[in-house]
Amino acid sequence: MRIDLHTHSTFSDGTDTPTRLVLNAQEANVDVIAVTDHDTFDGLTEASAAGQRVGVHVLCGIELSTSFEGAKVHLLGYGCKTYHRALNQELSTLQASRQQRIPKVLTALAELGMPLSIEDVQAQSAMTKALGRPHVADAMVAKGYVADRMEAFERFLGNGRPAYVSHYTIELDRAIDLVHDAGGAAVLAHAMIAGRGTILTSEQIEQLGVEKNLDGIEVDHPDHDAHTRDLLSELGARLGLIRTGSSDYHGTGKVNHDLGCETTRETAYRRLLEVISARGGRASVL
Ligand code: AMP
Ligand code: ZN
Ligand code: FE
Ligand code: FE
Repeated sequence: MRIDLHTHSTFSDGTDTPTRLVLNAQEANVDVIAVTDHDTFDGLTEASAAGQRVGVHVLCGIELSTSFEGAKVHLLGYGCKTYHRALNQELSTLQASRQQRIPKVLTALAELGMPLSIEDVQAQSAMTKALGRPHVADAMVAKGYVADRMEAFERFLGNGRPAYVSHYTIELDRAIDLVHDAGGAAVLAHAMIAGRGTILTSEQIEQLGVEKNLDGIEVDHPDHDAHTRDLLSELGARLGLIRTGSSDYHGTGKVNHDLGCETTRETAYRRLLEVISARGGRASVL
């Protein structure tokens, strides 16, 4: 069984519609995908319906924008009840903040000689309520300012670059509690990508596992090097965390993140389902 627990659709910054995402999973011989759009559940119904048609299981997922001791951290939530009120209130706040930062990014880009209108960005993101820098990047590509998302991030939009603007994030402690309260399992996404300002230390991960009842960590991720994977795997085993592997697929929006390029062991997936079941969550939205 091939299991890929981290993928994005056009409901956030992936380039595949949920239906296309599921069809591509089937084509890549992936049996289970979690759809984990940034800060929204909106793609899950379509993806799940498509999954039922073609025999791909769609696990209910989300990737929450959080922060912990000054670092930006992505938290994957699996099996959350999508109607959970407090979680949805946070999602609304995240989405509004994402919307509000776009004009600020555009002002910075205009000052750099790359004018874009809000409509230019919206034209790249018809379906999403979770606007992000990748949509701005796509608008820059459409105007011919940069070649691809990568160049847009490296030169202008990435953290610390001249058009970087942050948005609201949930405190990680609270995000874990919300995922649990919504019946889900909380898994740290790509916790240690070398060369980014988002690296958590082993001590911080240990603290989250012991004090916050974190359920798992993503070990096999395309942006983790071999040394990082060894370290995270050992740490996860010692702390009793569920260790996952995933592609973080974004369609054509990210290179070297093909569907199913990293996968989760069946034993880990079963444990995840057990946690969701024990908390009263819902593995599937249909
Ligand atoms: P945002 O959520 O708006 O802060 O944008 C961050 C998202 O942009 C990340 O979650 C990635 O999906 C995407 N991203 C970050 N760096 C790159 C890159 N170099 N190329 C393509 N996408 C990227
Ligand atoms: Zn993304
Ligand atoms: Fe992420
Ligand atoms: Fe992601």
